[in-house]
Amino acid sequence: MPEGDTIFRAARTLNKALAGQLVTGFETVLPKLSRVDFDSAITGRSVDSVESKGKWMSMTFSGGLVLLTHMLMNGSWHIYRPEEPWQRRTIDMRIVVKTEKIWAVAFNVPIAEFHTPDTLRRRQGLRQLGQDVLASNFDPVKATGQLRSREDLLVGEALLSQSLMAGLGNVFKSEVCFACRVNPFRRMETVNADELGCLVETSRKFLLANVKEASGDRITTYTGMRRTTGRANSEERLWVYGRRNQPCRQCGTPIESRKQGEDARTTFWCPKCQPMEPPRQSNNCSQFFG
Ligand SMILES: [Zn+2]
Repeated sequence: MPEGDTIFRAARTLNKALAGQLVTGFETVLPKLSRVDFDSAITGRSVDSVESKGKWMSMTFSGGLVLLTHMLMNGSWHIYRPEEPWQRRTIDMRIVVKTEKIWAVAFNVPIAEFHTPDTLRRRQGLRQLGQDVLASNFDPVKATGQLRSREDLLVGEALLSQSLMAGLGNVFKSEVCFACRVNPFRRMETVNADELGCLVETSRKFLLANVKEASGDRITTYTGMRRTTGRANSEERLWVYGRRNQPCRQCGTPIESRKQGEDARTTFWCPKCQPMEPPRQSNNCSQFFG
C-alpha cells in the first residue's frame, strides 16, 4: 500500500513535470470523469499544481477544476515521455493527462473525481484528515493532542488512523513503534507523554527521510527502497516490517507478526524490545537513530 511518502513523492514529481504546462490531451476509462471532460474540456487548460495530503493527490487545472485521486492499495501515477513504453498494463490505465513532453498516467486508482474548490473542501474523508505528517507547517503538539483524543484505540490502529494524523501507512506503523519501543497492541491510554512524543516525532522523521530529493523519484511507484534503519545494506533497511521469525536487529529475539485493526493489516514487532507492559521510566526516543 502506498504510504504518505510515496504519494508525496508522486505529487512532487508530477508537480515538477506538469505545473505550468498546457494539457494537450486527456483520456480516461472512467465514465464519471469522461462526462466532466465532455462538458468542460480538460484539454486546453494548463496544470496549476499537483499536491498531496495524506494519501490523497489533487491536480488543479486552470479555471479551478481539481482532479482528486486516492491510491488505496494498488493505485499509482507514473510519468512517461509520449513515446515511452508503460511499466504497467494498458488495461490498468485509468487516466492519462498529456502535455507536449510528458504524459502522466494513473493506473488502477480506485477513487478519481473532479471537484471545484468548493466541493473539494466538503469532500468526505478529505475534510476529516488529520495533519499531514509531511506538511511544512506540521505541528507536533497538535498531532499529539489528536492521538491523545482516541485513548480507546490500540497504538497501531491510532497511527494508521488518517483522521488523527495523515500519511503513515502499514510499513511505517510497525517501524515507528519499534523505534520508540512501544508495543503496537498497547492501548493508547497506556502510552506516556514521552512515548507519544516519540511516536509523532519518529513518524515525521521516517517519512521525511524517505522523501529526500535524492531518493530517485522519476517513476512514482514504490520501489522497495523505503528504509528506517539508516543502514547501507539494502537487506537491512527495515527494523521489523516483513521480518516475521527473523532475529531482532537489537536483541536477537524472533520478530512476531499479527493482523490488527478493522482492515486486518499485518503488524510486526519484537516482543522483547516492545513489551506489552508500559515502561516504568521514560525511554529515550533517539535510541536507535541520531
Ligand atoms: Zn528486540
